[in-house]
Amino acid sequence: MAEHSSSIFAEMSGLAAEVGAINLGQGFPDTDGPQALKDAAIAAISGGRGNQYPPANGIMPLREAIAAHQSRLYGLSVDPVTDVVVTTGASEALVASILALVEPGDEVVVFEPWFDIYTAAISMAHGRRVGVPMSGPDLRPDIEALRRAVTPATRLIIVNSPHNPTGVVFTRDELLAISEIAIASDVLVLSDEAYEHLWFDDNRHLPIATLPGMFERTITIGSGGKSFSFTGWKVGWASGPTDLIAAVRVVRQHLTFVSGGPFQWAMALGLRLPEEYFIEFRADLAAKRDLLAGGLASIGLRVLKTQGTYFITTDVRPLGYADGLEFCRDIPGRAGVVAIPHQGLCDDHAVGGPYVRWAFCKQPDVLERAIDQLSSGLAH
Ligand SMILES: *Cc1c(COP(=O)(O)O)cnc(C)c1O
Repeated sequence: MAEHSSSIFAEMSGLAAEVGAINLGQGFPDTDGPQALKDAAIAAISGGRGNQYPPANGIMPLREAIAAHQSRLYGLSVDPVTDVVVTTGASEALVASILALVEPGDEVVVFEPWFDIYTAAISMAHGRRVGVPMSGPDLRPDIEALRRAVTPATRLIIVNSPHNPTGVVFTRDELLAISEIAIASDVLVLSDEAYEHLWFDDNRHLPIATLPGMFERTITIGSGGKSFSFTGWKVGWASGPTDLIAAVRVVRQHLTFVSGGPFQWAMALGLRLPEEYFIEFRADLAAKRDLLAGGLASIGLRVLKTQGTYFITTDVRPLGYADGLEFCRDIPGRAGVVAIPHQGLCDDHAVGGPYVRWAFCKQPDVLERAIDQLSSGLAH
């Protein structure tokens, strides 16, 4: 069961705790989201809305807000009554979807490095994971490898864009190529869009479900935690065609049954926030990205351009390290900073080899301290 993935975060967090290091391994913000959402959650609790089991598929105002959001941003038409399910974070939506769709022996294609929940859920479903690398110097999805990886045994392709851990946002052409392969082989797509609002510069997020022939074969997943900086509230959702969502609903009913009621009221407000919220959110994160990227480049690492997510990827070879895991084991002691090696998130360690993931969703003074410690710690 996803042996190395569960241990890489444990190992690095353990190291961080041991030496009191700054933890840039963990992908969550150290500042909260909008006060209006806190007020909405508090008002719901005080007003008795959602304190007892809410409806199994989510409160109607949130399902309507999800449907309106998909329509407003992406032109996707989903019926809040039948085509949406609210879950305990995007995590539960992912696990429920994989358990609902994957039969023992089915192959599931994942891009490597992957998000560790995919591989754990594929194991729980007794499916077989098949890796396709993010490849080349900019770690783009390897479309030719995907073509070779899809076989008659393939049930599902998991797409994650913006992509954790690389920070890559898939282009329209890449998504089109993936969709052509999915349609030609009649496989389903699970699209993890937890970072749909965290794209930078002109790398606008595009849901694969918007491409021709894709809506009917795609489950699209969103995360309120990532979109509104309340990762502790654990509200997520899945939307898509009625038949696929019905299958997800059946499974997730037996996982958590329902998800935190008052937070659903707050998320319904969040999804209807004006465009300015999302613009400011991205601008704030982009500034943090630039701060950390500049610092990492100044100590000699090759810094890949982050197009989306909370994460910067660097290649450690210019500093004389051949291997990202060795680098990540070394820097807590030398510099008091923790990061995550990509190879802990790959079956094929050659894929992740020299790459390391750094979270920049932290306050500027934390990022500045990390850069100072790295530059003095790695200098001698
Ligand atoms: C954080 C994350 C999730 C899980 O989101 P939650 O809403 O916190 O459960 C899913 N996918 C990716 C790629 C993530 O980084």
